[in-house]
Amino acid sequence: MVDVIMSIDQASLIESKSFWQHAYGAYTPNPPLMEDLKVDVAIVGGGFTGLNTAWQFKKDNPNARVVVLEAAIVGFGASGRNAGFSTKMFGLEPEVVLLRWGKQKMIDAHHYLKLAVAHTRSLIEQNNFQSDYQHSGLVRASYSKQQLGRMKKTYEMFQKLGIDGDMRWRSAVEFQQDFHSERFAGGIYESDTGYLNPCKQVRALKSLAESANVSVYELTPVTSVETTSSAVLVTTPHGKVTAEKLVVATNAYSRQVPGPARLRSRQYPLWTYQIVTEPLSNGQWASIGWKDRQSFGDNRQMLHYFRPTADGRIIMGGGDAITYRTEPMEEVSAPAAWRHCEDHLKWIYPQLKNVRVDYRWGGPVSVTMDSAPEISFIDGERIIYSGGCFGHGVALTHLNGRTIADLLEGKKSELTEFWIVNRKSLSMSSDTLSFLAGRVARQALKSWDWWEERSLKK
Ligand SMILES: Cc1cc2nc3c(=O)[nH]c(=O)nc-3n(C[C@H](O)[C@H](O)[C@H](O)COP(=O)(O)OP(=O)(O)OC[C@H]3O[C@@H](n4cnc5c(N)ncnc54)[C@H](O)[C@@H]3O)c2cc1C
Repeated sequence: MVDVIMSIDQASLIESKSFWQHAYGAYTPNPPLMEDLKVDVAIVGGGFTGLNTAWQFKKDNPNARVVVLEAAIVGFGASGRNAGFSTKMFGLEPEVVLLRWGKQKMIDAHHYLKLAVAHTRSLIEQNNFQSDYQHSGLVRASYSKQQLGRMKKTYEMFQKLGIDGDMRWRSAVEFQQDFHSERFAGGIYESDTGYLNPCKQVRALKSLAESANVSVYELTPVTSVETTSSAVLVTTPHGKVTAEKLVVATNAYSRQVPGPARLRSRQYPLWTYQIVTEPLSNGQWASIGWKDRQSFGDNRQMLHYFRPTADGRIIMGGGDAITYRTEPMEEVSAPAAWRHCEDHLKWIYPQLKNVRVDYRWGGPVSVTMDSAPEISFIDGERIIYSGGCFGHGVALTHLNGRTIADLLEGKKSELTEFWIVNRKSLSMSSDTLSFLAGRVARQALKSWDWWEERSLKK
């Protein structure tokens, strides 16, 4: 039990921030840090990255003292709010990654992500996580002729690079048979991906880390980080931590972590929003097909992502992505984005026009200037930062935890050789410019979608 009186601010950190947390029910966080500690590794951030790193490192080094310091509760950030797709998607768009990073790095990224999906799945199976994992594949769908044309080129690119092993092209007729909607113009079925319940997953990771004697402190914001020649000094409201090494696993929140200036300029948060329907009846599911219950991503610039849940609902997210300038990051509700998600679901499936939306939420993804994630040493090798996962961080962060554990141990491995590790990254030095660039890009991408979809029936 938390043995300090909780303030209103703290209570709001525990409140459900997603359907997943809401459906999970009441949660009691671990007590905050209330003493000074000396540890081998301190980790800021209790999401997938932080908890995977903590567990992997502790497993290899049972005598090491490892702490996770989480400002709110585990899974407060993107890890407890996402759509749960465990996919091989990487960075921004495949074409942009290819253009910026070239063929070999694109192929290497694909192999890392393939490993990441397998790693996440085996972690779940070996540790008997009850996180509703389904390895049911991903469908990449197009609605218009123009989108289909682009997707064909993307598919040919995957084929040329030899990274299309689990992909099959499917026509509009096949889509119609499988998904009982006339909106789809065709696209790609990809079999080697899955999805999970992110809240169950992040809480199972917390238990796993704790079972290995990692100490997880919740309601413990890190308020300063200072490096000396022999340690990293971390301050929190009621205790200080002196650590041999520090991992900053704060992804989209990294601009607000006080400390090394380089942390501020690594990435920018972009908010994406989701809705979930009430559970569909058997009759409603029969009316829409979708018998293999795959996850979906479409081929728009402002993509939508949608998937079934274990209790028979549909989650629909995306269609817009918004940058804000509130600092520290505040929860901003987005009625227009939620309305858009609901309209889009009912546009695909008029059969569901009377289905109720039960929950609406949003969360921040971490975006970099050069369209790829990074894991980097910051000011020497005592601090490791991880971020920039875009909307594709579920599988990635699980494997990144293994990679960061290797870096902490000073090991060279196949993983630490992956090119996002200590890559040269472009910095976003000006907040105003990053914010404005986000707004301009959003408008341009929305216009692109309008153009490609102008002939579609509304
Ligand atoms: C709405 C949404 C949908 C998404 N859908 C998908 C998807 O389907 N598939 C996919 O692959 N990816 C998806 N993503 C992205 C994915 O969720 C993230 O890439 C991933 O969860 C990042 O994990 P993380 O541990 O690095 O960061 P987070 O989970 O964000 O964890 C960072 C933690 O740091 C804490 N923190 C911040 N500052 C401090 C501080 N000063 N002191 C202490 N703690 C601090 C925060 O409270 C937070 O808990 C989605 C993201 C969002 C927002």
